Amino acid sequence: MEVSPNHDESTYWYNFGSMKKQHLFLLLIVVTLLAGCGKASTEVIIEPSPTSPETIPTVTPEPTLNEAPQAYVLPDPLANPTHYRLDLIFNYYSHFGSVTQQITYTNKSSYPMAEIMLVVPPRNFENSYEQYSLTGDLVSSFREEGIITYLMLSRPLEPLETTVIKISFRIYLPDNPGIFGYTNQQANISDWYPFVPPYDEEKGWLAYPRVVDENNIIVGESIVNEFSNFEVSLTLVSHADLIEVAASAPAQGTDGKYTYTLEHARGFTFSISDSYFEHEIVQDGVTIRSYVFMNEIETGISVTEIAANAMKLYGELLYPYPRELISIVVGDFLHNMEMDGMIMISYGIFDFYDGIPQTDLTIMTPHELSHQWFYGFIGNNHALEPWLDEALATYAELLYYERYHPESVDWWWSVRIYKPVPTGFVDSDIWIPGGYIPYRDAVYLQGVHFLHEIRQAVGDGAFFASLKDYAYANTYNLATKADFLDAFSRHTNQDLTPIIAKYFQNP
Ligand SMILES: [Zn+2]
Repeated sequence: MEVSPNHDESTYWYNFGSMKKQHLFLLLIVVTLLAGCGKASTEVIIEPSPTSPETIPTVTPEPTLNEAPQAYVLPDPLANPTHYRLDLIFNYYSHFGSVTQQITYTNKSSYPMAEIMLVVPPRNFENSYEQYSLTGDLVSSFREEGIITYLMLSRPLEPLETTVIKISFRIYLPDNPGIFGYTNQQANISDWYPFVPPYDEEKGWLAYPRVVDENNIIVGESIVNEFSNFEVSLTLVSHADLIEVAASAPAQGTDGKYTYTLEHARGFTFSISDSYFEHEIVQDGVTIRSYVFMNEIETGISVTEIAANAMKLYGELLYPYPRELISIVVGDFLHNMEMDGMIMISYGIFDFYDGIPQTDLTIMTPHELSHQWFYGFIGNNHALEPWLDEALATYAELLYYERYHPESVDWWWSVRIYKPVPTGFVDSDIWIPGGYIPYRDAVYLQGVHFLHEIRQAVGDGAFFASLKDYAYANTYNLATKADFLDAFSRHTNQDLTPIIAKYFQNP
C-alpha cells in the first residue's frame, strides 16, 4: 500500500526544494504520482522538456452510429452487502487504538461455504495487530496464515444465509510514513481492520499477499474489497480538543466522539492530526474539504479549486459524485493514495505548488479524484487487472488538461508519458517481473496509449459515450476487461481487435 521513503528519495526531495528556491522550476519534477495512489509508492523523476508537437498523438473525432446520448441509471447496489460495524477508541499521542468489530456477512455465492476468509492488513506490519477475541455464531475455530485468517464453520453457511463475526483487537500504528502508520504530525488509519474479501465462484476468495519488489517498493494494490456498508464510531482519548479528523464520510458528534455511516464503499479510512488547517468549498451540493499543514495553507485553498474543476468534469463525463463530502488530505509521506471519500497527496507535491498548471498538484489531484469513480464506485480487481483503475485515472489527468489547460496538454504528454518511456502489456498484473517501474510503465503509461488509440479509432463521441456507459453499467461491481470492451461494443462498430492485440498479452 505504501512505501517507506529511502534515503535516495529524501535526497531527491531535498534537492527539489532547493531548486524551487532558485526558481529553476522547470528543471526537475519529482512525481510520486503513480504511486498507485498510494498503492505502490515511489517517485518518478521527470525532466519536463516539451516535445515537438508532431510526436504528440492528435485526436481525430469520427462520427459513429451509436453515440446518441442516452439516459443512464446507476445499478442497484449488491444485495445483502457485507456490513461492518467498527468502534475505534484511539489515542493519537500513543498511536494505538482498541477496536470492537462486528461483521455481518451473507453468502452471496450459489454454494454452501465450509469456511470464511478474513484478510487482516495490519498484520503486514510487525506487532501492529493484537487480537483479543474472535467469535461468531457459526465459527468453530480459526487458523492464521500471514495476513489471512480462515474461519472454520460448525456447519456450512448456505447460499443467502447470513452470519455474524465478532472481533476485538488493538492496532498499534507503526512509526511509518504511509497510509497505515504515524509521523510526528499525522496518524493514518487505512486498511486497519479484518475484512471478508470478495468471493468469486471460479477463482475463490480474491485475496493476495502484497508484492514488494527488490527496491522495497510495494507493487500495485493487492487488497481487493467488496462493496460494503460501514457504521463506524471513533472516540478520541487524550487531548481530543486539539485533534482534527479527516474520514471517509461526514462526522456526526463533537468533542472527540464521532459516528459515521458510509454505504457501498470499499473501505473506511481516517487521517488524524493536531496540525491540520482546513478549507472547504461547496459545489453542486458536494463539500470539498482540504486538510493541510501550516506551511500549506494557501495551497490547501488552491487544491479545493483544482478538485472542484475535476469533480465537475467527471460529473459530466461519468456521473455526478454521489456523496456529500470529499476530503483531500496532505500526506506526511512521499506518495499519493485514494480511499473512499478521501484522497491523500504527498506534502512534497503540496510544497512544490507554485500556482501554475504545469505542476504535480495539477496532475495528481485530478488523478486521485478520478479514483473515486475508478476504484470507489466502479470496482475492479486491482491485483489482476490494475489497468482498469490506473490507466483510466492517468487518462483522466489528460482529460483534465484538455478541458482546463489545453495549452499544457503537450507538456503533460511529454512529462507524464513520453519521458518515462511506456513499455509492456497494459493487462499486466502486480506480479509483473521487475517490480514497480515495469508495472507503472505498462499499466499506467501504456494504458494511456491504449486508451488514446481507442479514442482515435472510434472518435470522441463514441469514446465518451462508451466511457459513461461503462461507468454506469459497472458501478458497485468489480468490472473486468470484458465489461470495459462490452461498453465500447454498444457504441461503435469499429473493430478494436488490432489495438487490443497490440497492447494486451492476453487479448
Ligand atoms: Zn492511481
